[in-house]
Amino acid sequence: MERINVLDKGWVQLEDCMGGDDAVIRGARICYQSEAKTAEDDERLIRRLMRSEPRHNTVFEHAVFRWGVKCPIFVSRQWMRHRIGSFNEKSLRYCTAEREYYLPADAPLLSDYQGQMDASFDLYERLVAAGWKKEQARSVLGLGTYTEFIWTVNAWSLMNWLAKRLHKSAQWEHRQYANAVLQLYTKTMPITARAFGEFILGAQD
Ligand SMILES: Cc1cc2nc3c(=O)[nH]c(=O)nc-3n(C[C@H](O)[C@H](O)[C@H](O)COP(=O)(O)OP(=O)(O)OC[C@H]3O[C@@H](n4cnc5c(N)ncnc54)[C@H](O)[C@@H]3O)c2cc1C
Repeated sequence: MERINVLDKGWVQLEDCMGGDDAVIRGARICYQSEAKTAEDDERLIRRLMRSEPRHNTVFEHAVFRWGVKCPIFVSRQWMRHRIGSFNEKSLRYCTAEREYYLPADAPLLSDYQGQMDASFDLYERLVAAGWKKEQARSVLGLGTYTEFIWTVNAWSLMNWLAKRLHKSAQWEHRQYANAVLQLYTKTMPITARAFGEFILGAQD
């Protein structure tokens, strides 16, 4: 299981993978009942599928990934807007929040920010100690608090997320996670990831 550290305390890890480039080839070749004649035929086929319009996109859905992620809550909120995939997240109803929050680098008023975050954790801990339910006490914590979740997603939906969250209009912090996922994705599904980079990411403004 490969993990890449992201931001000051976060990470992303590839926990499981089914299929890869071979699954795309299987999905495509069953349609045409065809066979590769040379080693390059499969690569050519994936590249053709990636740039065809309209796209024969379902062939990319046969490769599936499970990612583990630790990120600030504000990143996870954006991430979970992507509906085609399955998420499970650490629950602050059942678990006590750890004193871990995102600290941006080189921002003005950083010590004020830190003071506010520390004060919110001080109050959270006092409320829990005084008998508040964790599900209510968590209300005082900031969106920079770190959370953890797992995400199971097929390669087509993953590339939709990557295209949107690598785009320069996406929040910088979210882009750092997308860059890390792209690195691991490229190692796992190199032919599809290269074609995606060339024909989809390369065509974005
Ligand atoms: C830079 C940026 C800024 C954003 N700002 C905001 C914001 O301010 N507020 C906000 O609420 N959201 C915001 N979003 C979230 C955005 O609106 C999408 O919800 C998110 O990017 C998920 O995209 P998606 O629907 O393509 O992905 P998924 O939800 O994974 O869906 C994948 C694809 O499935 C299809 N699909 C899924 N569900 C439906 C459906 N119900 N009907 C029809 N087709 C469907 C669509 O083709 C869709 O592209 C922002 C996203 C980005 C990248």
